[in-house]
Amino acid sequence: MEKDAKIYIAGHRGLVGSALLRKLEREGYSNIIYRSSAELDLRRQERVESFLKLARPEYVVLAAAKVGGIEANQRYSADFLYDNLMIQTNVIDSAYRNGVKKLLFMGSSCIYPKYARQPIKEEYLLSGKLESTNEAYAIAKIAGLKMCQHYNQQYGTCFIAVMPSNLYGPGDNFDPDRSHVLPALLRKIHQAKVENQKEVVVWGSGTPRREFLHVDDLAEALLFLIKIGHSPQLVNIGVGKDITIRELAMMLKEIVGFKGGIVYDRTKPDGTPRKLLDISRVKHLGWQAKISLEQGIKQTYQSYLASSRVFK
Ligand code: GDP
Repeated sequence: MEKDAKIYIAGHRGLVGSALLRKLEREGYSNIIYRSSAELDLRRQERVESFLKLARPEYVVLAAAKVGGIEANQRYSADFLYDNLMIQTNVIDSAYRNGVKKLLFMGSSCIYPKYARQPIKEEYLLSGKLESTNEAYAIAKIAGLKMCQHYNQQYGTCFIAVMPSNLYGPGDNFDPDRSHVLPALLRKIHQAKVENQKEVVVWGSGTPRREFLHVDDLAEALLFLIKIGHSPQLVNIGVGKDITIRELAMMLKEIVGFKGGIVYDRTKPDGTPRKLLDISRVKHLGWQAKISLEQGIKQTYQSYLASSRVFK
């Protein structure tokens, strides 16, 4: 890909989009375009159509989505379904109509069945029931990845659906009600330390396992997938190992330096027991994650502390 190739990042302010923007800028890509949601509401078909008709990007990374942790997914399930269906339908169809060379569509490991065999291979898609806490989000994302596959089949497009495991990193959402587990616990544990609290409440039983991928690793994988000649239709991106929520809490406690205890609120849902991705497909293509969880959490904590709203 030429350094002046026109690349449109949808969702450049989000966790994934902002990491990709940093990566592309660092690598010297000079023709990156983006719009804030106030400038371009991707849920509005006509606006998306006229934007892409005019902008005519060669590459599109569709990282705009309504996302959130286990509680937000349940509380705002209608919004998760509607917003994501609208955004992805408009962008994918307009990308085809305006001759986009390659599009990367961002999914998530929650699209796979709740009790899928582990590690989860791409082929296990639609082989069982979904986890109820994020069903609306998963249904939208499955529709998006199927849309990519069917456009490829019918129209010969090159639309790749990327399924990352649980993401974290700088620019994450630390809001207690909406965040995913890693930023949520990082914030809670930091606050507990600063305020000298005795304990921190962790939701659920602590036994579910999650695989955490640093968003800078994902950004690197996305660039790798844009550049490669052979493009798989569906590809998992992960680190190849997972830990329990309890182990995660212990690790965060250690890194933050919190001396108090951890208690479990079992009235909160556990969600999927495990969703470790099988990453052989992307490995065979030649890509592997580099950032260890410990290193990634330390860096994320530093960037969290540096953000102005945090009291130290
Ligand atoms: P999931 O991977 O889609 O289930 O989403 P989350 O990242 O929100 O949650 C992962 C797991 O962490 C679930 O078992 C949650 O119950 C657990 N968890 C523990 N404490 C928290 C917390 O403070 N916030 C969130 N979001 N999850 C938590």
